[in-house]
Amino acid sequence: ATDEQTLGFQTEVKQLLNLMIHSLYSNREIFLRELVSNAADACDKLRYAALNNDALYENDAELRVEIEHDAEAGTVTIRDNGIGMNRDDVISNLGTIARSGTAEFMQQLSGEQQKDAKLIGQFGVGFYSAFIVADEVTVRTRKAGDELGEGVEWQSRGEGEFTISTIERDRHGTEIVLSLKSDATEFADDQRLKSLVRKYSDHIDIPVRMPTTQEDESGETTVSWETVNEAQALWVKPKSEISDDEYKGFYKHVAHDFTDPLTWSHNKVEGKLEYTSLLYVPSRAPFDLYQRDGARGLKLYVQRVFIMDDAEQFLPLYLRFVKGVVDSNDLSLNVSREILQQDPKVESIKSALTKRGLDMLKKLAKDPESYQSFWTQFGEVLKEGPGEDYANREKIASLLRFSSTHTDAATQDQSLDDYIARMKEGQQKIYYVIADGFNAAKNSPHLEIFRKKGLEVLLLSDRIDEWLMNHLTEYDGKQMVDVAKGDLDLGDVEDEAEKQAQQESAKEKEGLVGRLKTTLESRVQDVRVTHRLTDSPACVVLPEHEMGYQMRRLMEAAGQ
Ligand code: ADP
Ligand code: MG
Repeated sequence: ATDEQTLGFQTEVKQLLNLMIHSLYSNREIFLRELVSNAADACDKLRYAALNNDALYENDAELRVEIEHDAEAGTVTIRDNGIGMNRDDVISNLGTIARSGTAEFMQQLSGEQQKDAKLIGQFGVGFYSAFIVADEVTVRTRKAGDELGEGVEWQSRGEGEFTISTIERDRHGTEIVLSLKSDATEFADDQRLKSLVRKYSDHIDIPVRMPTTQEDESGETTVSWETVNEAQALWVKPKSEISDDEYKGFYKHVAHDFTDPLTWSHNKVEGKLEYTSLLYVPSRAPFDLYQRDGARGLKLYVQRVFIMDDAEQFLPLYLRFVKGVVDSNDLSLNVSREILQQDPKVESIKSALTKRGLDMLKKLAKDPESYQSFWTQFGEVLKEGPGEDYANREKIASLLRFSSTHTDAATQDQSLDDYIARMKEGQQKIYYVIADGFNAAKNSPHLEIFRKKGLEVLLLSDRIDEWLMNHLTEYDGKQMVDVAKGDLDLGDVEDEAEKQAQQESAKEKEGLVGRLKTTLESRVQDVRVTHRLTDSPACVVLPEHEMGYQMRRLMEAAGQ
């Protein structure tokens, strides 16, 4: 080995390693899934790169992953003939965490094992999970197409630094040797490894092979390789032949998650456009859900060839939590992100997948418990929908859940249809109040008259709510009305006598109103007698078309 260099891990890697080793002990078998998943991804990437340059295969085009073990030495080796890495790739991929927001994420970790295990799951452990079971990890790799002398060896004990050197390597691709910790030697076992491959990697379309050694009569040993997983792209199989466990296992590979998904939807479309989609709703939000450059989008395949991760063009932003695969027969294998943005076929697939996504949520909503857990994780993202996707706003609105004076609880679990079913006779509108927090909304003086009359009001207090209501002015033909804005018209819920009485009392108070107007002249537009209030003496009301408090604050924050 030459050019040996010792480098330190990025601080965040050290933190991750430390936490992972301590909090993922009971999940430690996932290391194999992560490493096989990376090996399969590397094969996918080579297949894609070789589309334009066959020579990259170096006469070794049968893509595969191999797993070997040595019980005596206490090692497990995972090997692929995929794309491989050069020295720079190795330093950045196996020495840093490139995702933005990582440092902020690390700060959230508490040191409490169970909590952190969950958070780390949201983050995705990847390659570094090797150190859950190994006290030393050696990676040997060469990028396909590079000179044989440009191989790289990386070695680390996971304690803050790694060494890297240049080696001669005749095959392209990557080999990872785990030197198992003394309490993890159970993994250097044929049956154990096989069952883990079947459990976690059955669904990937690259064969995972393990060797069997046989000795014949003359004492000569031969090694034969057996494919352990099913090695067929899951989405290609007919739905009826796929078990729930297979769907769940595949999700974990696609989404880099290790909790089960909440639900999924698998569809094959034939006709003018031909494509297959397999969409999943995760059960937990990823840490970068609200980051502008957070990972989102589907894995794109064209005729079963992997093209790219995170293809964002197939779903709207408000469904960015959806994970999965789209495999098209109509796109070119040479498609790029730029081409995707302009291709009208992509636009049609996107609008169809949007419908699928919304239908999947509608189905999920039939199980209120699951839907509630979906809503807690992703509700605020879905609320971006009516503003982003005018055509589907009614459909999206039916999927929204709110707090309301019906329960007076902070849990958002009431749908607009629930509200409508409870509307009083003569009520024509859907009422809501927006405030900075749930308690402020619940105790708003604007609600007094509504409570008195038994009219339900939606209690909105998420940051996004005002933006949402700006775009959701109507649902099911009923106007949505902010109870804090403009003149209050309770429609037929008020009878003539009441209206009469209000007009009379307004007349009586003309003098008082006049004096208040003069006193407050520079600070308010108008002073009026109101029947909004039953207990409070006065309240501030916004004109009908005025920007609300939340929007004002947002605009101010944006320097407007
Ligand atoms: P992720 O797979 O989510 O990107 P990982 O931590 O698992 O994160 O891997 C980090 C990166 O290291 C990968 O994105 C890939 O670029 C590289 N890598 C890991 N394993 C391999 C491999 N077997 N062959 C080629 N590249 C790999
Ligand atoms: Mg990975």
